[in-house]
Amino acid sequence: MSNIDAFSRLCAQLAKLPGVGRKSAQRMAYYLLSQPEDQVQALADAITTARTKVHECRICGNYTDQDICSICADERRDGSTLCVVRDPRDVAAIERMRDYNGKYHVLHGIISPMEGIGPDDIRIRELMARLNGVHEVILATNPDIEGEATAAYIARLLKPFTDIKVTRIAHGLPVGGEVPHAVHQIVP
Ligand code: ZN
Repeated sequence: MSNIDAFSRLCAQLAKLPGVGRKSAQRMAYYLLSQPEDQVQALADAITTARTKVHECRICGNYTDQDICSICADERRDGSTLCVVRDPRDVAAIERMRDYNGKYHVLHGIISPMEGIGPDDIRIRELMARLNGVHEVILATNPDIEGEATAAYIARLLKPFTDIKVTRIAHGLPVGGEVPHAVHQIVP
């Protein structure tokens, strides 16, 4: 075991969370220590259970604790339209808008030569394998350089499929935020 005490170890773990600095990690640690043990245990359980049970949907890659996610399993949703997003947070953001009734494909990453992430490192092959019966693919990666490059790459792959309409969401998905208007544009 390391030579730092339990309190410092807790602070160090909390500080690894996104958006949590050293000061807020310390504040959280003090808060947790002031709580009843069973409540802290419930939090710890929720974290480990989610991490163990939640995995990628076999079809779309969204997070689920089932074999396939609730969106893929929902027969009322239009399976002929696929919205391609970078990660499960984007699915949640689009779902909050409540005006999309198609299905999703989660890439779990973005093509990024700078970080050594190529097309084979994200779920593009899985996308190409599920185009049967698909009439529209909406490319909803972020409007930054890597998001645009990934969308362009996928659009090129889809070009030979003349019966599939490829559209691009012109407005990006702010991280963790609301999606104002999903304006669709046909990729030239
Ligand atoms: Zn799914």
